[in-house]
Amino acid sequence: MKDYALIAYAYDKTVRIYVSTTTNLVEEARQIHQTWPTATAAFGRFLTASAMMGLMYKKGERITLKIKSEGPISNMLVEANPEGEVRGEINNPEVYMKYEDGPKKGKLNVGTAVGPGFLYVTKDLNMKEYFTSSAQLQTSEIADDFTYYFALSEQVPSSVGLGVLVNVDQSVLASGGYILQLMPQVSEETVSHLERVIQNLPPITTLIHDGKTPEEILNLLSDGTHQILDKKPLSYTCHCSKEGFSKSLAALDQETMNDLIYEDEGAEIICHFCHKKYHFTKSELEDINNQRKK
Ligand code: ZN
Repeated sequence: MKDYALIAYAYDKTVRIYVSTTTNLVEEARQIHQTWPTATAAFGRFLTASAMMGLMYKKGERITLKIKSEGPISNMLVEANPEGEVRGEINNPEVYMKYEDGPKKGKLNVGTAVGPGFLYVTKDLNMKEYFTSSAQLQTSEIADDFTYYFALSEQVPSSVGLGVLVNVDQSVLASGGYILQLMPQVSEETVSHLERVIQNLPPITTLIHDGKTPEEILNLLSDGTHQILDKKPLSYTCHCSKEGFSKSLAALDQETMNDLIYEDEGAEIICHFCHKKYHFTKSELEDINNQRKK
């Protein structure tokens, strides 16, 4: 089953719901970045939330999300757009931590692996300036942090659920999530009903692993009151190109450029997002250097 998201209204259009499956794109991210299980879960949740959030924007706009934190994973960055495309990078992918005791014993300890820090969201809305807003991480388990971010920075009361289930061979078995957003006209009755629905909802990974589709999960969340507005494919997509990296090379200072041409006699650039390699020969570098002097 391909990854996709549903966007819907429910409860008399007083609640907006995003539901997604992201098992394939998180597995792709794991393979590219060689993440260990707890890093896979943290990065996967972050990618999933970002992918759904990207769908809240208009064509041509995009968002960049950063988690800067003090845990062993350190920083993560994800770019997302309304086409459902995400790509990202993770500072330290080699993190594997489990809860030692308590009710979550044996589960992946994302909260500690991410640690205290901040979530930053930068919006490129095709205007002259970018807009950045931020919120302090609450539990560093990602879903709660997005819930807090939406309430604080966007003034939208929300509920976010995210989950990544990692297999014994470290591959991604199930991944997905939902975002519920309450519209201003929502009734108190609906709010308390939703609280019960969410409380009784099995973990999102259990639902997806059991083969539940986003349609079925949406039905559980909306109690059958929904109306689907859109269905969007989600993917890990990097649009990097040799041309794009030529522009980055053209922006280097002269000393660095000379080193590449006369000492290294070429350059190899690896994309941070997809790890694709681009090779530039000495003469290609000379062309870039001559072009920019004109
Ligand atoms: Zn790339």
